[in-house]
Amino acid sequence: MPAKTVNDIVALCKRRGFIFTGSEIYGGLGGAYDYGPYGVELMKNIRDAWWNAMIYSRNDVEGLDAALISNRLLWKYSGHEAGFSDPLVECKKCGTRMRQDKMKDTSKCDNCGSTEITEPRAYQLMMGLSIGATSDGAINAYLRPETATTTYTNFKNVLDAKPHKLPFGIAQIGKAFRNEISPRGFVFRMREFEQAELQYFVRPDQDEQYHKMWMDTRLAWWINELGIPAEKLRFMPHEKLAHYAKAAVDIEYEFPDGFDEVEGIHNRQDFDLGSHTKSQNEFEIHANVLENKDSTTKLSYSDPQTGENFIPYVIETAMGVNRAMLAVMLEAYTEEDLGDGKSRTVLKLKPKLAPVKAAVIPLARNVPELLEIATNIENDLRKLAIGRIELENSGNIGKNYRRHDEIGTPVCITVDHQTMEDNTVTLRHRDSMAQERIAITDVPRRVLEIVNG
Ligand code: ATP
Repeated sequence: MPAKTVNDIVALCKRRGFIFTGSEIYGGLGGAYDYGPYGVELMKNIRDAWWNAMIYSRNDVEGLDAALISNRLLWKYSGHEAGFSDPLVECKKCGTRMRQDKMKDTSKCDNCGSTEITEPRAYQLMMGLSIGATSDGAINAYLRPETATTTYTNFKNVLDAKPHKLPFGIAQIGKAFRNEISPRGFVFRMREFEQAELQYFVRPDQDEQYHKMWMDTRLAWWINELGIPAEKLRFMPHEKLAHYAKAAVDIEYEFPDGFDEVEGIHNRQDFDLGSHTKSQNEFEIHANVLENKDSTTKLSYSDPQTGENFIPYVIETAMGVNRAMLAVMLEAYTEEDLGDGKSRTVLKLKPKLAPVKAAVIPLARNVPELLEIATNIENDLRKLAIGRIELENSGNIGKNYRRHDEIGTPVCITVDHQTMEDNTVTLRHRDSMAQERIAITDVPRRVLEIVNG
């Protein structure tokens, strides 16, 4: 049984060191969270799974890591400065501010039920910055609200450095910032979050085929790499398309209180490269773009066969890494009744995603002979370079198993007195709790099998 509410996860995240409230000792800050020792590992493993699939398993995608702060002009021509806003309304009775498009009923206040609601006004979501000693406090730069725009502005740099024929893509993982009106749902909607985005550049007449290809590819990734059951995922086409989009579909996951977006897969036509290119008049740009007098570079593609020079279309896949981690934890969270009034909580994560890959546990605390063997096993496992390995020297085996069940460690290796006689250890599996006795020399091979399982 996966988690019934997000709260099941919130308590575990704090207790076991996955996620803490940001600025907690000063009363917190809305929409900001800190990731603890196991949270950073799980996030890293999700990022790695994405990078493996999007870059290392293909030959048509390059990586990029662009700056988080960027010149204001980027956000002028991308359309964000004028149009990246949410409709903000306020309840005249209790003062609650709400995002109109996310209200349960737009005629009533979500908080007090009053029908006295203000008219919506556009609320700018980008976080402005004042950079440099001469800035006088005025906004002259922005924190990026997504990774995509800095990918478009580097289109030519990447293509010049690493030539590609269409279709090809550029992928980025990194922080994004949005001044969300009402952060909510734990890490579901934050003001600082992380995205993993691909911009895939295609010939204009091949956009539909690649949009479909990426929808299928990304859905399969959620199922196979993150271990989310297919029936908990669905495609949801956007009802209202942004002016630049030809098609937009979200992948939604069934959270405890209903389906909601975890990734967007959009056909953005030639809007982005067309917006940021210089000499716009030389190209037949289909999307409605702002006239650009500031760009210094043509963001076009020359077909090596035909010599034709044109602005490619973009298919974008945009995933929230924090939302992916939340979905993974909700899905893996299991409470099991063990009979006799006993129960356990276990995170049944895919072993590859687990924050700790294996724990080595001497049965008794501070027994030098046991500790030495355990340390040798720990060192052998470290050499596999599969991620974090932990050695527990508390002597409380039950407590250690409980802790490692709760953080999702796929396997524990227990060293006991018999080990000193016959060089065997107990290998305990997280999900079945089955135990097997194996030779110490077999431990690395077995652990590798389990982690790659
Ligand atoms: P929403 O409609 O939920 O505000 P969006 O459609 O604006 O999201 P995109 O701009 O398409 O989102 O961003 C891509 C992905 O980034 C989303 O699918 C989501 O997983 C993630 N994301 C967006 N905003 C946030 C946020 N405030 N906190 C955490 N993740 C977010």
